Amino acid sequence: MPADPVPADPVRADPVFAAREDAVAADDRDPLAFARARFSLPAGRTYLDGNSLGPLAASVPGAIDDAIARQWGRDLIMSWNDNGWWTLPGRLGDRIGRLIGAAAGQVSCGDSTSVQLFQALVAAARLRPERRTMIIEAGGFPTDQYIADSVARLLGLTVWRVTADELAHALDQDTAVVAFSVVDYRTGELADVAGVTRTAHLAGAVVVWDLCHAAGALAVELDAIEADFAVGCGYKYLNGGPGAPAWIYIARRHQPSADLPLTGWHGHADPFALAADYSPATGIDRARIGTPPLLSMLAFEAALEVWDGVSLATLRTKSLSLGRLVIDFADARLPGVEVVTPRQDERRGSHVALRLPDAYAACQALIARGVIGDFRAPDLLRLGLAPLYLSHVEVWDAMTVLREVLSSGAYRDAAYSRTARGTVT
Ligand SMILES: *Cc1c(COP(=O)(O)O)cnc(C)c1O
Repeated sequence: MPADPVPADPVRADPVFAAREDAVAADDRDPLAFARARFSLPAGRTYLDGNSLGPLAASVPGAIDDAIARQWGRDLIMSWNDNGWWTLPGRLGDRIGRLIGAAAGQVSCGDSTSVQLFQALVAAARLRPERRTMIIEAGGFPTDQYIADSVARLLGLTVWRVTADELAHALDQDTAVVAFSVVDYRTGELADVAGVTRTAHLAGAVVVWDLCHAAGALAVELDAIEADFAVGCGYKYLNGGPGAPAWIYIARRHQPSADLPLTGWHGHADPFALAADYSPATGIDRARIGTPPLLSMLAFEAALEVWDGVSLATLRTKSLSLGRLVIDFADARLPGVEVVTPRQDERRGSHVALRLPDAYAACQALIARGVIGDFRAPDLLRLGLAPLYLSHVEVWDAMTVLREVLSSGAYRDAAYSRTARGTVT
């Protein structure tokens, strides 16, 4: 386990959420309360894992039925034109773009985050062919580290793993690429996205941001910070469904020169000419690879309807408020539990991580009581706070369940031990 990158913050003397009534009051003035009805949530469960797999949007089943019965079943191959299948990656990309501060024509949807990260890292490194190092985040998500190492082997680069604090010192004239996550998947710490981008650009490096735990959780404003490349998931806070396709952002200024490694026929300038040689499409369509998973993409498209009329500023305010509730509760009522996530609002994403003596068993005990969070080895309980469908009272009550599980020792029941479960998820 790498050293905790988050310095301890002082516990606030003035909790905002001191009692359940404070949660009730926050819900009474919640401008996002209307959005919960846009989801199909199971009764009797509090879902605090939307940062891992977003829940089902109510608009999705009908869209899937239509995709199967009408589009596939009746319109068959004509759907590529008649039902807009061909243009779906860019259409979806533009909709995602509105949630990440990207003007139209810079986001393409498809494939997995791992694949899109490979695309972005290689293309970014190819913009700086004379430079030999790639800087990635120490303790970043495994796939991000593994893909970066592979890209480095492929291109003959050296990978340096650094923390955000060490970045300025590590950058030099040999840095081709800097690849960081906007929100740390374990601690929930929010990076200084604008600052890191500026610092890396001053050294002449190209930046690849991973928005997996940020897209749909907070506004990132990729265009405004002059981001270069970004990638992110479809199935976390964007609620696109299990295995939903990911997406890639390529700033418009880089598109003419972006040399992407996976040169599939959907990214060709003239795909239906079926030419023997590759010639990339102009614009973001060059980021397309091969035939996309249409059913998943149509589900994702329907899921994005939950964002209609939602202000990202309001979303952020509620997300921070839910985070504050979890932190205040843990500080005041959960002895022996350490808040790992930064306490300052501007340094937090939308999940809170708590360090517990036996986080695995506590997580299992919570799930048995209808509170679904997740465990991250070795000792973190991660609670995802998606503002579109969670209320303050629901989160308060879930924290009360956690308190009971811990104070009663119920989590020590053998049924919740790792050996009883057999697998670690
Ligand atoms: C969730 C997540 C991924 C997932 O990658 P897949 O290819 O979709 O499995 C990658 N990176 C980060 C930072 C993530 O949080």
